[in-house]
Amino acid sequence: MHHDLVDGVPVIWTETPGPLEATLMFGCGLKDETFRTLGVTHLVEHLAMSTLPRLHFDHNASVSLSITDFTCTGRPEQVVDFLARVCAALTALPLERIEQEAGVLAAEGSGVADPVTAELLSIRYGTQGLGLASFNGPGADRIPLDAVRETVARHFHAGNAVLALTGPPPEGLRLPLPPGPRTARAPHPAPRTTRSSWHRADVPGPGLLLSCSLDDQAMLLAAHVLSQRLTDTARHQLGLSYDVDGTAVFVGPGRGERSIQLDVREGQEQRVAELLWHEAVRLATEEPTEAELADEREAAREFLTDPRTADLEVAERAADLLFGETHLDGETKLALQAEVTPAQVREAFAAAMETALLLVPCGVERLTLGRPDGSALPAGGCSERTALPVGSQYRPPLLARARSGAARKVRLVVNADGAWWQDEEGLIHGFPFTEVVGVEVQEGGRMLQGLGNCFVPVASELFAGLGRAIATIDAAVPEALCYPASALRATG
Ligand SMILES: [Zn+2]
Repeated sequence: MHHDLVDGVPVIWTETPGPLEATLMFGCGLKDETFRTLGVTHLVEHLAMSTLPRLHFDHNASVSLSITDFTCTGRPEQVVDFLARVCAALTALPLERIEQEAGVLAAEGSGVADPVTAELLSIRYGTQGLGLASFNGPGADRIPLDAVRETVARHFHAGNAVLALTGPPPEGLRLPLPPGPRTARAPHPAPRTTRSSWHRADVPGPGLLLSCSLDDQAMLLAAHVLSQRLTDTARHQLGLSYDVDGTAVFVGPGRGERSIQLDVREGQEQRVAELLWHEAVRLATEEPTEAELADEREAAREFLTDPRTADLEVAERAADLLFGETHLDGETKLALQAEVTPAQVREAFAAAMETALLLVPCGVERLTLGRPDGSALPAGGCSERTALPVGSQYRPPLLARARSGAARKVRLVVNADGAWWQDEEGLIHGFPFTEVVGVEVQEGGRMLQGLGNCFVPVASELFAGLGRAIATIDAAVPEALCYPASALRATG
């Protein structure tokens, strides 16, 4: 592996067969945005790519949770041309194209993580950092121009970039980006839900999220053993699932999240959710066998020593450099895994299970599950409150109350501190105004999004006589957080 420096940008490369592949990475992504500016990094990427002429070689760009990258594959002179054009575009973005590109973004849709992992991250972190993964935000056409300028200035400079190449730097390579400091990164926001609990959301199948260090090889082996056991039971023995999938999410140096999820045959959601949890508890309480670990070590060796994964190794090394992470190369990982004992696998997994979030699809009615220590796994909720706070109360319109028993339970309270409501099942949602991250301004109503995974619909369809509530909200919430409903969203 070689290191160079071009125009202040670190270049990491290794010699691999095949055409030259280049990945220009910036250490920014969805997790650096806010609810109000959600999608701004993607918009910057689109604005930059919109300046390229038609190119007859593979090229692309994407925004993930923590990295924005521009990639191409071609002859050396094509790679030089592409990178120079991308850097020039980022230095002078065509801001006049913002409206068109916002429309393109809405058509493309986002989805930087699979829906199950995204929802789990939102339960863990709320509407900040990685928790933004499951949200659409105000809409691409509501991203303020200042947020675009600010994002470019803060993230898209030589101090926040790394180039990964699958061959030596080609002649004439330039990366003319604005200079910038190797910034000390702000720590990721703290999780809002740390203790194990189960949650329900509109997702295709059940999933589990565990906080851990991504470098911990005992935990890595544990995750692989669990996936294999679930594949054996849910797929091969019971025929309930097709796919078991695992995702690793980088949070910050030494901090990560691992998710494991299964797809489900219709009608079997509850059974598969229980199976997932029971297998997880079993791994936290009983050591895996030596044979299981040997199998996973062998699978890791096959993957890490395959010459076709050399480009992944370069990209991983580049990302670690970007985030100041210690890089473990393939040989080091395999050597560490060889030392891991069954007891260490169980211990690592048991520690992570303290933080387990179990997510199940809507339709799973009631789960009665125990934690590894035998205590009951509680259902997660939006609010610790069991009753609405004191303040002006609003109720559904009379006709709605007459027609539906459920509507008779629904209440809204808006007071000087914040907004709360009781839903049709009697559950309380809401938050103080200091936790509002966005307010969609509607005709005769306001939709409030909170810092947690929670919203308050101050909507005229749901509540009567909202005049005073709206006046209170408008006076309490900073104007910068308020926006009219997106014109790009499909209505209905
Ligand atoms: Zn809620």
